[in-house]
Amino acid sequence: MSSHKRRATLFPEERYDDPVDDDDGEWEKTVQAPVKRLEFERKRVEAELTNQKRIIILQANPSTRSHCRFWDCVPRKFNGEPNIRSAFRFNLKDLSARYYEPNKYYHVSCMEQIFPDLSALVQRGVLKMEGGVTQLTIASWQTSRFHTAVEDWFNYEGRTFEVEIYDRFQRDHSRWRRETSTLEINHQLESHEGSSQDCEKCGEVPNEPLRNDYFPEEPRSSLLSEVLASVTGVTQLDRVDEDLGAPRSKKPRRE
Ligand SMILES: [Zn+2]
Ligand SMILES: [Zn+2]
Repeated sequence: MSSHKRRATLFPEERYDDPVDDDDGEWEKTVQAPVKRLEFERKRVEAELTNQKRIIILQANPSTRSHCRFWDCVPRKFNGEPNIRSAFRFNLKDLSARYYEPNKYYHVSCMEQIFPDLSALVQRGVLKMEGGVTQLTIASWQTSRFHTAVEDWFNYEGRTFEVEIYDRFQRDHSRWRRETSTLEINHQLESHEGSSQDCEKCGEVPNEPLRNDYFPEEPRSSLLSEVLASVTGVTQLDRVDEDLGAPRSKKPRRE
């Protein structure tokens, strides 16, 4: 274990009820005032980002086992459990591998409460998408790639386009690629003269769908949780106001 002076890293999932030792009068006030609690939480995460060189990683959520660390976790209030059941989550992660440090998970919407302007964290380089290759099991690997709307949200630092615009463009463009390649193949197989571009037998070659015809000029600033919800096809990413009858399996909560 580390010689580090932070306490209780042994059982990270059970920790969030006793965040500090010094329960004096000041602490009492902090506990009782939501604004102070939020401020406390922000400082705590901020300290992890600056002193401990952790960064916040957006990742796909493979199970319902991870618990949200946020003191005032809204889904926990509604569902009575801290489990993150959403398709995506944040991991406040130590990438240095200096010593074993547990992952610290948050609902995306909870982190948006702690830091109302997540794009500032993207600009600072402390909020990133999980990238590259992830090991799922000992024998299976997965290259993670997010929906382009999400990737653009990071590239444009908090701004992106409507998810359905990406989907529509993507769909039309793939259809165009299929059509032109079929046409080209037929042109070759039937040994028409010249190029397929101006072949009378092939008829008109469809025009390539252009990005500019689909996307407005400027991306719009959006909440990451909304973009992710839209990508997932739910109204709210962390589903506090909806029936939890999702496809995801309901595992018993961990105590
Ligand atoms: Zn939460
Ligand atoms: Zn032809």
